Amino acid sequence: MPSPRKTLQDLDLDLLAGTAVALRADFNVPLDGGRVADAARIERTIPTIDLLVESGAKVVVLSHLGRPGGRLRPEFTLRPVADCLGALVEAPAAFLPHVDGAEVRDAVAGMADGSVLVLENTRFLPGETACDPGLAADWASWASHFVLDAFGTAHRAHASTVGLARAVRQKEGEAVAGLLVAEELSALGCVLGKPRRPFAAVVGGAKISGKIDVIEALLARVDVLMVGGAMANTFLLAMGIETGASLVEPDSAEAARRILKAAGPRLVLPVDCVVAPSLTPGVEARSVDRSAVTDQETIGDVGPVTTEVFGRCLADAATVIWNGPMGIFEKSAFANGTRALAISVAEAAEAGATVVIGGGDSVAAVGSAGVANRITHISTGGGAFLDLVAGKTLPALEALSERTPAGNSQGAEV
Ligand code: ADP
Ligand code: MG
Repeated sequence: MPSPRKTLQDLDLDLLAGTAVALRADFNVPLDGGRVADAARIERTIPTIDLLVESGAKVVVLSHLGRPGGRLRPEFTLRPVADCLGALVEAPAAFLPHVDGAEVRDAVAGMADGSVLVLENTRFLPGETACDPGLAADWASWASHFVLDAFGTAHRAHASTVGLARAVRQKEGEAVAGLLVAEELSALGCVLGKPRRPFAAVVGGAKISGKIDVIEALLARVDVLMVGGAMANTFLLAMGIETGASLVEPDSAEAARRILKAAGPRLVLPVDCVVAPSLTPGVEARSVDRSAVTDQETIGDVGPVTTEVFGRCLADAATVIWNGPMGIFEKSAFANGTRALAISVAEAAEAGATVVIGGGDSVAAVGSAGVANRITHISTGGGAFLDLVAGKTLPALEALSERTPAGNSQGAEV
């Protein structure tokens, strides 16, 4: 369990008036033709920005976008993000095409209280992912305080997350979690800490190898764990079932066997699947019992019987956590299982269950099923979400100021 960290709500906000606050956000949003294609991640940080603005802070936003590889690549500029942000906040918001050095220091010195400045992509500098203390010190030269709202990046020890938090604290500034990070931690803390039962988890997606620790951590807590997606194939392989040309990870079969043995009936696997002779577009798919997959076929989705079985487990649940699609949901022939699951979890939420969903692809699937607004909590994290579920600490959170024992104890404990 990470030690309790301070959040923005723990601070006396008068402290921030007239000071420069570095806000690390996760504005790694999809772009389309130089515009923000989906502003959800930006919108989720607006409450934090509004609060900082109302406190009279000079709000300096740092974020990465894509993977420019430590050099300036114009297609990864944060300018479209700044334009989008400008339309969402009441305060004056500007973009600065620089990310470090004297240009930034001068621009911050010229900011009005209660205004917002978005800096250029932090990953244009190689020191960002290298967590270069020199780069962090450069940012801390103008930042009085630091707010971490980049939940989606909190599992990374980078200069603008861990480095800047440390550098600001070294000069006696506060380094605290923003409102979005506090909300994410409290949602996951509720689900993982004291879940209402029955507690059901659904895990899917492409690779089992990266999620074995997640599956094991969940099995220690849940009443039922449903597995779909390609990772279910490796379980089928471990049971000696023919998986044809499907995506499987033979190196993880031993781990799958161990999990199967330990989990017993709490682990629910697909009983049927949607298969096709290949994954080329237009190819005809069919639903078969899991024992009837031929050596030529590829499993692309869970079948209708499985969908029903999973739906029944979810209808009974009081707490649900979901990560990972049930199939290759990007292809319409294999999208039904994931879509049906999205509808089942939304129905569970409407019937009173607490439903938490994380992972970029799963969240996209919930969006395209049109049920996002019915879900209790949609996480902005992929890797960070999974690390928390697996019981790991997040480095960027660990670097924040500790809460004093007498402080408000709500929120940041997971
Ligand atoms: P999330 O982003 O929600 O954490 P992942 O990234 O782990 O999810 O997995 C999503 C990917 O898994 C999707 O690209 C999807 O096509 C793939 N996938 C799911 N089921 C299968 C399958 N049966 N065969 C191949 N790929 C699959
Ligand atoms: Mg993904």
